[in-house]
Amino acid sequence: MDYYESVVDLIGGTPLVRLNKVTEGAEALVLAKVEYVNPGGSVKDRIAVRMIDDAEKAGLLKPGGTIVEPTSGNTGVGLAIVAQQRGYKCVFVCPDKVSEDKRNVLRAYGAEVVVCPTAVDPADPRSYYEVSDRLVREIDGAWKPDQYSNPANPRSHYETTGPELWKQTDGRITHFVAGVGTGGTITGVGRYLKEVSGGRVKIIGADPEGSVYSGGTGRPYLVEGVGEDFWPSAYDTSVTDEIIEVSDKDSFAMTRRLALEEGLLVGGSCGMAAEAALRVAREAGPDAVVVVLLPDGGRGYLSKIFNDEWLARYGFLTTSGETTVADVLA
Ligand code: PMP
Repeated sequence: MDYYESVVDLIGGTPLVRLNKVTEGAEALVLAKVEYVNPGGSVKDRIAVRMIDDAEKAGLLKPGGTIVEPTSGNTGVGLAIVAQQRGYKCVFVCPDKVSEDKRNVLRAYGAEVVVCPTAVDPADPRSYYEVSDRLVREIDGAWKPDQYSNPANPRSHYETTGPELWKQTDGRITHFVAGVGTGGTITGVGRYLKEVSGGRVKIIGADPEGSVYSGGTGRPYLVEGVGEDFWPSAYDTSVTDEIIEVSDKDSFAMTRRLALEEGLLVGGSCGMAAEAALRVAREAGPDAVVVVLLPDGGRGYLSKIFNDEWLARYGFLTTSGETTVADVLA
């Protein structure tokens, strides 16, 4: 018989798929690491299982305990699946820009969801960081994984995603491109690939226009799961060779093209990372092997990125683009 003990054993070991149509103007081989095939539908399953394993070993998470985390959805799904399988409760705190679809997914796995305003300072008592801290203090047996500072976040990528990429490309990867949220992916994968290649592999972060990683102030942008208004300790900036800034408009246009032309229905941060990877690939020679990590699937964004009315409302369907995100959110 050929079966897995539980869905938790399906995490990781994701495929690399060549991009063939969106690559006009690039001679390099461009490969996508497709993370939506993880059981929770995103790359975040990888860090969820490692953070919980570590907390159990350290005695921070005890039988029947409650996991409390501020999460844009994907980390919550991974945590909810692992928690459910091991008998823990989950309470997730989300900013209000996260789609209702994503929140309902968390609830479907049995988690409780608390929604907080996006447009407040991180130090404001209503911010999702502050609310989650208060819940940890007030709930008995609560443990906060804190993906932004938990070393198991980058380490999970150092131990799984990085080695998978090296093996899958037979050591021929020349560039790795990923969006930066907590910085866990780029730090862990980047550190591993730098070490194993003797510093040869270039590590490139993609960042939404306005986020601090590309010199912004953290002003609102619409792409979800990436960019920040502070510098998390999970992100080791010494690993990245370059940060490429991508506008919401370019991110969403590429997200739509990935579905239409490559058959990859993926999220907005995937379009952002792919847009950055293609800019890299156009500059690189024919021997380059550019790998871009696509963090999640597109089903959580059907009423936004894949909805023409929503795109038009933000001016993303017109080439002149009179309306900016800042105008609309102001
Ligand atoms: N894309 C999406 C959709 C995400 O949820 C995340 C995680 N916040 C990322 C990209 C960025 O990954 P990381 O946190 O490892 O930098």
